[in-house]
Amino acid sequence: LTVLGIESSADDSCAAIVTSDRNILSNVVIKQHDQNADYGGIHPLKAQHAHQVGIPEAIRLAFTQARITITQVDAIAYTRGPGMIGCLSVGASSAKALAAAHNIPLIGVHHMQAHALTPLLTESTPPEYPFFVLLVSGGHTQLVLAKSLDKFQILLDTLDNSIGNVFDKAARLLQLPPSLERGPGAVLEYYASLSYSQPNNQLDNSSKSHLNSLTSSMFPRPDHKTPKLLPPLPRPLPSKTQKAFSFSGLLSATERLVNQLCPDGRVDEEVQKEISRAFQLATMGHLVDKVSLVMKDYPDVRGLVVSGGVACNQYLRRSLVKMLRDIDSKAKLFYPPVELCTDNAAMIAWTAILRLQAGAKDEGFGLALRAKWSLEDLYDDLPQR
Ligand code: ATP
Ligand code: FE
Repeated sequence: LTVLGIESSADDSCAAIVTSDRNILSNVVIKQHDQNADYGGIHPLKAQHAHQVGIPEAIRLAFTQARITITQVDAIAYTRGPGMIGCLSVGASSAKALAAAHNIPLIGVHHMQAHALTPLLTESTPPEYPFFVLLVSGGHTQLVLAKSLDKFQILLDTLDNSIGNVFDKAARLLQLPPSLERGPGAVLEYYASLSYSQPNNQLDNSSKSHLNSLTSSMFPRPDHKTPKLLPPLPRPLPSKTQKAFSFSGLLSATERLVNQLCPDGRVDEEVQKEISRAFQLATMGHLVDKVSLVMKDYPDVRGLVVSGGVACNQYLRRSLVKMLRDIDSKAKLFYPPVELCTDNAAMIAWTAILRLQAGAKDEGFGLALRAKWSLEDLYDDLPQR
């Protein structure tokens, strides 16, 4: 099987061609970060307009790079949801027009199912069902149990913001410079890695004492060998029985800290580094704590897939390795390569291939797009199931 995938749920215009023998013939991602930087997030209408240029261009490049023509395509897959309807509609309409013109079957794919199944495309020894999936992205923070290709159980979900969203907001609060490549979360991780409290950093003594004097009057320094400059941020949902994530309190606490430390509204570089580190420590600590709490209930599950943009975070990766060791878990960690962790159309084409192999049929032109769509209700409105 050779499948064209089209993805336009958020702000990246993506097209890819993938074969059933796990070859990615092309994987085109056209980013819009520069156009949305001023707005401080994804502007739905602007993103939709950008897709109207980006999607046709991505499809054209996907065919050129794969060196095939549409006559060699067995199915067309598009992202049906969850995502912004205006954005989704550009990809869906393009897919339908191509499918109509060339009489090719159409499959509408769940974006998060595609994130979850990516290691089945990329790993030489893929995880076997059931496996855990930690989905950490701009719109989702979920721990899911993948029981089969199309049966997913959500074990943990966020009560408020997603982790990618609070990373983006914290980066803005801290006035970190924008990055065209991977978004504000990656910049925050970089600043955290430069923090004075990290072992290998190069801050001179005068900047250390400057930051010390800034904070020590406000926060008494605990009697530690390694000085801690900032108070730890609060730990959300500390109860061991509460199985959920929550990030909004951490974000508010971070905002209060920034306002305290920078009363003139200008965040200096030392504060940017220190708060980035404290923020990363607190959010990831909370995430990993709750994941470990739930994983202990499923000692026989052998795999943990981590996917979505936040899966690129190296501190998260190290924390997960440590956590699995601490709870003596049998689960092996799987990460898609960075370019397949963030949004892409190869995962959309691949999910359609798995579904076609399992007997899925052409879904036609009538399926509604779904802005919100739980992984637990994958095919609830498909006629053939
Ligand atoms: P969804 O998949 O839920 O619809 P999305 O597709 O918009 O959301 P992704 O592209 O998977 O989200 O991920 C983008 C998010 O990942 C952004 O919030 C970005 O800041 C965050 N991110 C990227 N790299 C890192 C990193 N190194 N550390 C923390 N966060 C990161
Ligand atoms: Fe995504």
